[in-house]
Amino acid sequence: MADLLKDPMVLREIIMDHYEYPRHHALTNGHGYLRAHMASESCIDDIQVEAKIEDGIVRDVNFEGVACTISTASTSIMTELVRDKTVEEAREIMKNYFAMINGDPYDEDLLEEAVAFAGVSKQANRIKCATIGWHGLEKLLAESEKKDD
Ligand code: ZN
Repeated sequence: MADLLKDPMVLREIIMDHYEYPRHHALTNGHGYLRAHMASESCIDDIQVEAKIEDGIVRDVNFEGVACTISTASTSIMTELVRDKTVEEAREIMKNYFAMINGDPYDEDLLEEAVAFAGVSKQANRIKCATIGWHGLEKLLAESEKKDD
């Protein structure tokens, strides 16, 4: 898998697959869900991200809205990566994802398919697209911790 993820064609396919078939792409608006509205001024991206965080575990994450290829695919992959992880693990994944996008060292094993966005660190205009859903998650994690106090 690690070698496959170095092939630009494979990375492109991962992004297109998550764009065409976004995972967890419907809000439940269910009880106990936190929601964040995220919009970009530089792109069409305007999404809602929701998460159910219970007993320190990310039980469910979903998103919905209008979004470009990069933001749809990066948010779709995020919903898969952090699902059923502890808040701490989700934060670690998020930290590594942001490091990758910033062009800093990161742990590719933690990011799995999300390494498809490594090239974004060299495309300043796409950074917001690749992180909008992740910043939504960041907001929800912070909110859930505030609630637990
Ligand atoms: Zn975008």
